[in-house]
Amino acid sequence: MVQQDAKERIDALRQELERYNYEYYVRDNPTVSDFVYDAKMKELLALEAEFPELVTADSPTQRVGGQVLEGFLEVEHTVQMQSLSDVFSEEELAEFDARTAKALETEKPEYTVEMKIDGLSVSLEYENGQFVRGSTRGNGYVGEEITENLRTIGSIPLRLTEAVPYLEVRGEVFMPKSSFLKLNEQREVAGEPLFANPRNAAAGSLRQLDSRITAGRRLDIFVFNVQQIQGKTLSTHQESLEYLAELGFKTIPVRNLVYGAKAAYQEIQRIGEMRGELPFDIDGAVVKINRFSERDALGVTTKTPRWAVAYKFPAERQQSKLLDIALQVGRTGVITPNAVLEPVRIAGSTVSRATLHNEDNIRDKDIRIGDTVIIQKAGDIIPEVVEVVKEKRTGTETVFAMPKTCPACGEPLYREEGEAAVRCLSSNCPAQQMRSIIHFASKAAMDIDGLGPAIVEQLLDAGCIKDCGDLYALTYEDVVSLERFAEKSAQNLMDAIQKSKEQGLDRVLFGLGVRLIGARAAQLLAERFGTMETLMQASKEELSQVPDIGEKMAESLIHYFKEEKSLDLIARLKAAGVRMDYESKRVGDSLSGKTFVLTGTLPTLKRSEAQTMIENHGGKVSGSVSKKTDFVVAGEEAGSKLDKANALGVTVLTEEELLEMLEMK
Ligand code: NAD
Repeated sequence: MVQQDAKERIDALRQELERYNYEYYVRDNPTVSDFVYDAKMKELLALEAEFPELVTADSPTQRVGGQVLEGFLEVEHTVQMQSLSDVFSEEELAEFDARTAKALETEKPEYTVEMKIDGLSVSLEYENGQFVRGSTRGNGYVGEEITENLRTIGSIPLRLTEAVPYLEVRGEVFMPKSSFLKLNEQREVAGEPLFANPRNAAAGSLRQLDSRITAGRRLDIFVFNVQQIQGKTLSTHQESLEYLAELGFKTIPVRNLVYGAKAAYQEIQRIGEMRGELPFDIDGAVVKINRFSERDALGVTTKTPRWAVAYKFPAERQQSKLLDIALQVGRTGVITPNAVLEPVRIAGSTVSRATLHNEDNIRDKDIRIGDTVIIQKAGDIIPEVVEVVKEKRTGTETVFAMPKTCPACGEPLYREEGEAAVRCLSSNCPAQQMRSIIHFASKAAMDIDGLGPAIVEQLLDAGCIKDCGDLYALTYEDVVSLERFAEKSAQNLMDAIQKSKEQGLDRVLFGLGVRLIGARAAQLLAERFGTMETLMQASKEELSQVPDIGEKMAESLIHYFKEEKSLDLIARLKAAGVRMDYESKRVGDSLSGKTFVLTGTLPTLKRSEAQTMIENHGGKVSGSVSKKTDFVVAGEEAGSKLDKANALGVTVLTEEELLEMLEMK
């Protein structure tokens, strides 16, 4: 390739990789698989190696991915949080080993081999054995402060077994597969966008400004490195992991030390075989030099250490036969086509269904019933059809056509312009009704414990209910006569239904499943209008005046409240004693229009508690200090925010002064 062509290709690759980085690290929402990303990165690295004069400091090959999101405090990492160089084959591993052996003047370097957990890298800092600060990797030099969120992870010790003067460790926060599946199930029911994989779900959960959300997400951690320590000398990685375990950390499992590339590769394969059975995702194995003196001798580059390498496992793909395309009707009437497959084992589990997303995807990939197809587990656990093996066609395959009528109710289907989804608009569609009831009973709505999809289906089949309005007319006899119900479980369900009547307007409104009205919008509306009656009488203008309620949402509400069916449902819920008003958590407006920034450790309040108090009095809490900030509430060890507040002349308050201001002292 001549230099001019190389430059063009390099520019194009850089632009693409920058976009992927942004989607992956900042938005926690990748649009391409790691496989694709890694291939492009590899191509860019190869071109830059061939044309070193074209390497620039801002090339994606030179920097560690992320950036600090607005709303979080920044943390400077005293010890840089580096990334790892990748290898993808036994040969590439052998090259790494040969380089290392040469530099260390030894025949077979001493390594540890660990699982590479597919999660999010964090730093945890301890002073005198107390957890004082936690942060994300960010760009490697500066990360986001997420101490409160990390405190919610049960396996992070808040106090160590020894009062080590100072310790900083690094670990990988992850979401177990089971929690990920449950979370996505709930999000689907609530009509919220799904997470692509557990890694993105973990990142999204950890970077929440409200730690209560993180607490509900069941995250976990493996700690894998000592970044800094005072008061103790450690000389090998293995020794340091043992010491961290004694201090109370959940450490990355390491079996035996291995010597040379061959032994390391065997251990990588052993880890690879366990992959499907593990309760969490791994995307490779990490080979690391064990002795710290040897690590020091090998050194680091600007982005990665020279003493370690990540062996990436290939994406798991398998061939299977597409037996049929089954249609699923969602709560809002969206019809999703699913592939029914000849069962095949991929990454340790049997796959017999995969998503086909929508009609356009089937047409673009020319997927036909009877085709041999390649299945991939995206993010390791959600299977999808990647492509068709056209050479295997026999001519008997049939082209799929989206039906004109709903498979559940037979009413005509519609596709709006500019939308990929085909919908059933019938208000009597049984499939939609079932999904609506499941949504109504879900945790974020009426939270009826024990009323899951299987029970809803049984109740519908038995003719006990038709919609969520009928739930409150259910009798103990109805429930106890269902299969799998005993006296106690029937009574529990009856109690849960009864209890749900007290949830209040915000939950009812969300539970009704009005198009475009999610949990937050429901809360804002409840807060503003107070009762269902007032809300139903509100005009489009009044509705769209509520902050964050857009015109489309307002229209959707107006439309919903015009329908006879909705009015009847609301009337029946009301008659059954379901609360239709909202008990505001707002206690006053004394801080209305005032912006606060919280920094440092407050003496008695958690930062999230202080934030709730301020918001309950009408104030706003922001993450960064500017001229518009009215007050900075500073606790112990307040850092750069406090300096900035002083420089800008912003009033600084102690916790006590804040409480006085709220008349809580
Ligand atoms: P990486 O994932 O290749 O490896 C480094 C990370 O591994 C470390 O930061 C650490 O957090 C983690 N890790 C897990 N277990 C470990 C252990 N036992 N020891 C040491 N480290 C361990 O590098 P990265 O910089 O975090 O991410 C780059 C990768 O992310 C890419 O290779 C790509 O696969 C993916 N990515 C994908 C997209 C996309 O759009 N799909 C975009 C950007 C990045």
